[in-house]
Amino acid sequence: MANWYFDKDADLAWVEGKTIGIFGYGNQGRSQALNMRDAGLNVIVGSRSDDSARKSRDDGFETLPLAEAAEKADVLFILVPDEVMPQIYEESLAPGLSAGNTLVFASGYNIHFKYIQPRADVNVIMIAPRMVGQGVRDTVVAGTGFPSLVAVHQDADGSAAKTMLGLSRAIGSTRMGVIESSFEEETIVDLFHEQFGSLHAIRRALEVLTEAGCSPEAAMLEMYASGEVREIGQYYVDHGLFGQLKLHSRTSEYGQLVYARGKPEQEEAHKNQLRAIVERIRDGSFAREWTEVQANGMTAMKEAQEEIENHPMMVEERKLYERLGRFSS
Ligand code: NDP
Repeated sequence: MANWYFDKDADLAWVEGKTIGIFGYGNQGRSQALNMRDAGLNVIVGSRSDDSARKSRDDGFETLPLAEAAEKADVLFILVPDEVMPQIYEESLAPGLSAGNTLVFASGYNIHFKYIQPRADVNVIMIAPRMVGQGVRDTVVAGTGFPSLVAVHQDADGSAAKTMLGLSRAIGSTRMGVIESSFEEETIVDLFHEQFGSLHAIRRALEVLTEAGCSPEAAMLEMYASGEVREIGQYYVDHGLFGQLKLHSRTSEYGQLVYARGKPEQEEAHKNQLRAIVERIRDGSFAREWTEVQANGMTAMKEAQEEIENHPMMVEERKLYERLGRFSS
């Protein structure tokens, strides 16, 4: 088992008195800023855009241009999208750093793949919530908190681990617990979860069901559109991945537990596909491909978006969602 840390292991005194800078007032930035202010810390916001700056000022935060906030902050939470982070770091944050400052990342990506290589005299830590931004705020307000993966990448002055735990407490994460991880592990599990193919598995299932003569509506309602998956997702959380099967019919339980497993050789073939995904993350192939796609004006992404938008099932989905009074992409 990994090492876990809770409120009892983390003291707010380890970070009190520091100026905490939030860079990127978006999904994570706003929620983490509000949580840390509620915990009594001195939080300022660095923002490049008028819209975000207005929002953070409306929320009562001192809000400065990125470079000015970087000079003022002792602890810098870098909460902009991973793909723009290296440029923002180089241009606006790095020039304002001083020895003993602490950089906090919510994802391992840019440090693990060395797109950002901080100077040796700053602390570099990770607090990566396993929770969407709004949930970071809502779960803390509700009193439960949320788990995070945490790690120290660079301990410049001996304070990195305590700072990491103090900040984890301030954002509300040690309430549920944080686990000791690494920038590499966070990168692997995060990218793997995005890439292991759940959406395309459902899309293929829709194709097969309609080929078999089922209506697109019946197929989509069964596979996700009714909202039942939201309920079942909550059962996974509450009762465990297979423990939740006791809430289904016996036929469903047999189908999911036994029949869906397939033959050992099928299972091994699928695991080999999954192993290849891990390998492409680990050896940097995915990161190189993604960097190239961005450098080429996101052409590959735009083509895929267009293809999926025109896919017969997604055309059917738009009709269904119109009928249900919902939005669809
Ligand atoms: P967002 O997409 O919400 O963006 C955050 C902010 O970044 C924006 O509000 C904007 O702020 C700024 N920004 C966006 N584009 C640019 C740009 N081109 N140049 C400069 N600033 C820009 O980010 P998230 O909160 O989703 O992600 C932040 C970090 O948290 C990432 O490392 C991500 O991997 C990690 N994370 C995200 C999770 C999530 O659920 N979203 C979960 C766990 C970790 P402004 O207008 O002030 O410049």
